[in-house]
Amino acid sequence: MIFGSGIIRGMFVTLKNFATSYFRKPDEGGLFTVEYPEKRIPLKERFRSFPFLVYDGTPENLRCTACDICARECPPKCIYVVRAADQDGRPLRRPAAFTIDYSVCMNCGMCEEVCPFDSIFMDHEFEIASQDRYRELVYTLTKLLKSNEYFNNIRPRDAQAVDKKRREAEEKKKLAAAQAAKPKLDEPPKPV
Ligand code: SF4
Ligand code: SF4
Repeated sequence: MIFGSGIIRGMFVTLKNFATSYFRKPDEGGLFTVEYPEKRIPLKERFRSFPFLVYDGTPENLRCTACDICARECPPKCIYVVRAADQDGRPLRRPAAFTIDYSVCMNCGMCEEVCPFDSIFMDHEFEIASQDRYRELVYTLTKLLKSNEYFNNIRPRDAQAVDKKRREAEEKKKLAAAQAAKPKLDEPPKPV
């Protein structure tokens, strides 16, 4: 082997990539810089910015049950959940308050991974810069809620898979309820 041939080969690869990057698309290894914000590269479906909460139909039908799992698993502990309660103080399966401090969130997606109710997902919205961190970047429930249509729009494959899973679970529940309501044939008749 000639001394220095590895360096020459490496430089040739660099030169080749430099030249061909002008002709390839960004996805195929071409130039991926654009004149932002006038031009934008389409985001990938699994692009992660910050989490949001999904509701079905109307915001009252939010999926979150205030189980607090996401808050416990969040590495920098930037999720705060307060469970709602009825007039007698009994806990309800919904949050009275749900807050995420986006200035602390590290976009890891752990909350989405651990939520057992398909309620919290990573958004595509990333242009949230603000000079007032406490007023603008601490997102409360009303700011966090987004519709399932929005979710389907930004992440169609994931949202459709979740919708299918939820539909199947609902059907199973209905079937089980119908079977439980049916009188059992081998049961002795109830005394009158
Ligand atoms: S993305 Fe990660 S850091 Fe941000 S709220 Fe979810 S778990 Fe916490
Ligand atoms: S978003 Fe999911 S994990 Fe977090 S409190 Fe609501 S239901 Fe529980």
